[in-house]
Amino acid sequence: MSAIQKTACIGTECVACGSCENVCPFGAVSVKDGIRAAVDPAKCVGCGTCARNCPAGVITLVPRQREESRSAFKVIPLKKQKHWYDYLWLGELLYLALSLTNILFAWLGLIFFTIPLLMSVFGWGKAYCRRFCGRGQLLQLLGSRLKLSRNRPTPRFFRTSVFRLGFLTFFMTMFGLMLFGTYRVFTGAPLRQAVTLLWTFRLPWQWADVSMVPAWTAQFAYGLFSVMATSSLLGLLVMFLFRSRGWCVFCPMGTMTQEISKLKTTKQHGKSDRI
Ligand code: SF4
Ligand code: SF4
Repeated sequence: MSAIQKTACIGTECVACGSCENVCPFGAVSVKDGIRAAVDPAKCVGCGTCARNCPAGVITLVPRQREESRSAFKVIPLKKQKHWYDYLWLGELLYLALSLTNILFAWLGLIFFTIPLLMSVFGWGKAYCRRFCGRGQLLQLLGSRLKLSRNRPTPRFFRTSVFRLGFLTFFMTMFGLMLFGTYRVFTGAPLRQAVTLLWTFRLPWQWADVSMVPAWTAQFAYGLFSVMATSSLLGLLVMFLFRSRGWCVFCPMGTMTQEISKLKTTKQHGKSDRI
């Protein structure tokens, strides 16, 4: 009796992080629209690699529908070639190291905010999360290659819209307060030389020489580094407790770029409906 053929099935709460696309040995799953992963049943052999690596836990293996046939040709694993963007995790490490040396380097963190947004606005969907996110790569490396992750399913509520949008709102509010703090220093308030972790713990941070720049510039660097260090810490914590890229499930940038992709798709559909 032949075993039941299975195929991967993606749940509606997919956060489009692209982890499945990166690990599938057969190139059978992709997140082209930046909204949700899609499986090509002709290529999927039902090995389950994607399901074991999905940080949101939304992939299940289901028996194939009769009309879904696997490729008539033998599906062979792709030889994954390394690209320059596979090493962007080094950029993440470099950023942290430079900012620890001199807080003014924290300004470079703006790159990690603007590039994902610009990419999704200009129609690249969540290509940043899938290909170019150094932090995601670093978490994958630490969690899966170095086996620092307990590799347990992430809590279900992480992938709910309420939690993801709620965390995004909280994150943006704190970001706004950081900008307000910068503005206050710009208008004459004294510079606060501290990095705040998890929006609570203030670490005195006076070893960098910031005298060569206006005080507000230094204040923004302290604030931005606080944001970056806090999100890195949360990413490491979720990596350790749950899946390697568990942070990607509720990463504010990931949520924003997915929402932008949804908006763009809705607009496009609206346009084509009117034609
Ligand atoms: S959440 Fe990520 S890994 Fe899971 S199905 Fe969606 S894109 Fe793939
Ligand atoms: S089950 Fe295996 S072949 Fe199918 S999409 Fe997942 S990783 Fe790829």
